[in-house]
Formats: sequence, C-alpha cells, structure tokens
Amino acid sequence: MKIICIGRNYLPHIKELGHQVPESPTFFLKPDTSVITCNRPFPLPAFSQQVEYEVEILVRIGKEGKNIQECEAHTCYHELGLGIDFTARDLQKKCIEQGNPWEIAKAFDGSAVISQFIEKEAFEDINNLNFHLDLNGTTVQVGNSGDMLFPIDRIIAHVSQFLTLKEGDILFTGTPKGVGKVAVNDRLEGWLEDRKLLDFRVE
Ligand code: ZN
Repeated sequence: MKIICIGRNYLPHIKELGHQVPESPTFFLKPDTSVITCNRPFPLPAFSQQVEYEVEILVRIGKEGKNIQECEAHTCYHELGLGIDFTARDLQKKCIEQGNPWEIAKAFDGSAVISQFIEKEAFEDINNLNFHLDLNGTTVQVGNSGDMLFPIDRIIAHVSQFLTLKEGDILFTGTPKGVGKVAVNDRLEGWLEDRKLLDFRVE
C-alpha cells in the first residue's frame, strides 16, 4: 500500500507558504510506516520544533489502474475519508532551500493520520464537500473540495501516468489554508460534512 499526497492544491494555502502555483499536480509519497488509524494518538517527534497539521480529504483507491483517463477516474474509487498530513515544517523549509527530497519532513512515523472511510455515495456531490479541523475546540482550517486546483479525477489521471495505482492506495488531496503547529496534549477533531471522522490527541 502506498500513500500519495498532493501538494499545493488550494490557492490560499499556496499563498500562505509563499509557493508558486503549479501547472500540474505536485505529489510525494509516504510509506506504510507513517500510518496512524483508529484515532490513536500522534507521537510528536523530537527532531522537529515545528510539526504542523494539514487536514485533507482522502480517497481510497478501489482497483488497480495505470494511465487512467480523467473521465474514467471515478470508477477507481468508492470511498472517501479525512486525514492529517503531519509536516515537520522547519525541516521541509531546509529541504526546499537545499533542493533535497522531503522525506524527513513528510514521511516520518505517524505523519499520515487516516480516518475510517465512507462510501462516496453517502455524499451528495464530491466536488462540493465541506471539511474542517478543530484544534483544542477552535476551528483552524475550513475547506471545500470545490476549491481544489486539481479535482480528484484529474489527480488520479495525472498520478497514474507515473505510478500504477493499486487497491488500498490512499490519496491525500491537499490542504486548505490555516495550517499550524501542534504541541503535546493538543486535541485535533476533523469533520467531513457533518461526520466527525477524526478525534485524537498529540502525545
Ligand atoms: Zn499536505
């Protein structure tokens, strides 16, 4: 199983990090050892002074495919979820400055928090899905899937030119603005529409 994460998919978040607007989806991978499920606590790593949450809509790939056409992409997934792409922002800045790959900032143990998955038919319109994240009871990130620069089907078409997608692979579809630092004992709660899918602590 692999985790494919889309970077820079919401304009206000690109601006808050001072990045360029991409012409095609940028993506990176996280290994299976990064996964946390069932709302288990997130262990804050000691090697970073600035670990930040990024709440994102998740897509679980339902069948194997390569070179998938955008118009066929909807047949490749049936389930959506919510996740946190934990990012060691201080290390990521260094990687970017030095032109190094991002793994130490993005692929560390626990960096992929994954909720349960819900059948996509349970939602009226997957291109108009509201989601939000609360930190210690205060809403810090609000997003809508309609604001993605690259919608889910386009992401799948793009990524599958390079990587064969397999059943069980998970896409992180990018984060809206409002990312911020976490500390020990913080509580994070995430909603996809009116469903609370994330509720865990930092330890
Ligand atoms: Zn992200």
